[in-house]
Amino acid sequence: MVTATESVNEETLALLGSELNYTVQVVSPEDEDRELLESFDLEFGEDEGSAEDMVARPPVVTVMGHVDHGKTKLLDAIRSTDIVAGEAGGITQHIGAYQVHARAQDRAITFIDTPGHEAFTAMRARGSQVTDIVILVVAADDGVKPQTIEALNHAQAAGVPIVVAVNKIDKEGADPEKVRGQLTEYGLVAEEYGGDTMFVDVSATQRVGLDELLDAVLLTADAALELTANPTQDAQGVAIEAHLDRGRGPVATVLVQRGTLRVGDSIVAGEAFGRVRAMIDEHGETITEAGPARPVLVLGFTSVPDAGDNMLVVSEDRVARQIAERRESRERSALQAARRGRRTLEDFMKSMEQGETRELILVIKGDVSGSVEALEDALVKLDVGSDVDLRVIHRGVGAITENDVNLASVDNGIVIGFNVRTQGRGVERLAAEAGVDIRYYTVIYQAIDEIEAALKGMLKPEFAEAQLGSAEVRDVFRSSRAGTIAGCIVRQGEIRRNARARIVRDGAVVADNLTIDSLRRFKDDATSVAEGFECGISFSSFNDVKVDDVIETFEMREIPRA
Ligand code: GDP
Repeated sequence: MVTATESVNEETLALLGSELNYTVQVVSPEDEDRELLESFDLEFGEDEGSAEDMVARPPVVTVMGHVDHGKTKLLDAIRSTDIVAGEAGGITQHIGAYQVHARAQDRAITFIDTPGHEAFTAMRARGSQVTDIVILVVAADDGVKPQTIEALNHAQAAGVPIVVAVNKIDKEGADPEKVRGQLTEYGLVAEEYGGDTMFVDVSATQRVGLDELLDAVLLTADAALELTANPTQDAQGVAIEAHLDRGRGPVATVLVQRGTLRVGDSIVAGEAFGRVRAMIDEHGETITEAGPARPVLVLGFTSVPDAGDNMLVVSEDRVARQIAERRESRERSALQAARRGRRTLEDFMKSMEQGETRELILVIKGDVSGSVEALEDALVKLDVGSDVDLRVIHRGVGAITENDVNLASVDNGIVIGFNVRTQGRGVERLAAEAGVDIRYYTVIYQAIDEIEAALKGMLKPEFAEAQLGSAEVRDVFRSSRAGTIAGCIVRQGEIRRNARARIVRDGAVVADNLTIDSLRRFKDDATSVAEGFECGISFSSFNDVKVDDVIETFEMREIPRA
């Protein structure tokens, strides 16, 4: 039986549909959202107008690479090269993105200022591609590393051209040529070797090669991409970063992709909506307009959008609110469905057969989708027998949010953070209040080991009988006080008082679940009697002992799990 609020899988749904004479069509969340926007006569993603309406726009760049190869330092260094920033008092605000002007061509380039793949993959996972070019940072003294390849895979999968920044060339042992050689294996062949990827040797700390790097970005953009946008339409873009500011309320850095965003515009981003109250750029200046490829901090949302949410300007506040509300209710029901789990009929049968199954519920958050997938794969493959199941009810890229904790708390689940932390202290507090365990890992194997141990901990303990001793009955006495007393000789091991016992007669068990209630050596009580010695044994619950019976004693021992 499936209850009315239970979710079923697609096959079951299709089967059910056909029984009821319906054709079931499963749509993706993106399709659903497109339909929602269409119902308001809106469309996200395409520039309006014709070719004449398009103007060139700056490229949007994300810096990726292995940890410690210098992404942060490079972004810092590039920030300081900005020739325009000099006049405006420098880039003073960390708003999640900034624009610089390349010295050589005096053209703007927009940098997403959240190093790591997180922003990139989070946004790509949500179908919003903001990056035009990836700068792949590889330390010349360290060479190509796993995250280098991961970053490269992400960029290539997204069809985004790569410029390689060979960093730390100032360091002893730096071997920029080796990096070029290593990357040819992954299809990135340097121009000087006849390929079409630009490699630039830089030192982020010494500020060497930065102009050349910016130049390479522009040249690559010109060669591989045609970057234009219509600046005259209603603005559309993507939320890159957002948080709740104590003084200013929800703030979000929005990268405008097309159109021009203006103060006073009604906006909706994901499940958040509002009206642009003010916009602040990376120099801390308030601005009234933001055109294509401009990142800008937007004040005026009524709640905090998620990174990667698409943002669009709509005709009036009412429309913005309706879109946000519809998205929110859709998301809520999707989460509820996920929480209840998609159980197939087979699952139900199985759990009925097995009686109660115990489940370990997990929410997995990680820095990149690759590691989240890898971890989930490894975890669901853990096999500790059929008594315990592991179920991942939610997974995602990015910081651990309130939502993750709430999801986990309903099912007594735990949250795993792989290379990520909670989104602010509030989330930690919430977890503590809700009794949700958040575990942080940076090494996949450690996560797997611990979860495996947890699963084993959930298994009911298994006990096995351990033989302690046996005694042969040689004589039987009756005592008015102690009842029947078996006069025995211990044949093997030892007999202990209070040990569990059974009685075997002619090879058959005639009494089980007994306890040695009284044990005596001659007239004295004994706690144990060793092999070869005589003793008197009596049971309070069994009086029918016979000569030649064998009394076996044993105890139950917990078997450690392998
Ligand atoms: P990220 O993890 O990729 O963001 O790396 P960071 O930018 O935090 O840099 C990691 C370490 O490498 C820091 O200690 C930096 O000071 C150092 N570093 C970064 N770039 C250079 C460079 O060009 N030369 C040298 N010698 N050290 C660098």
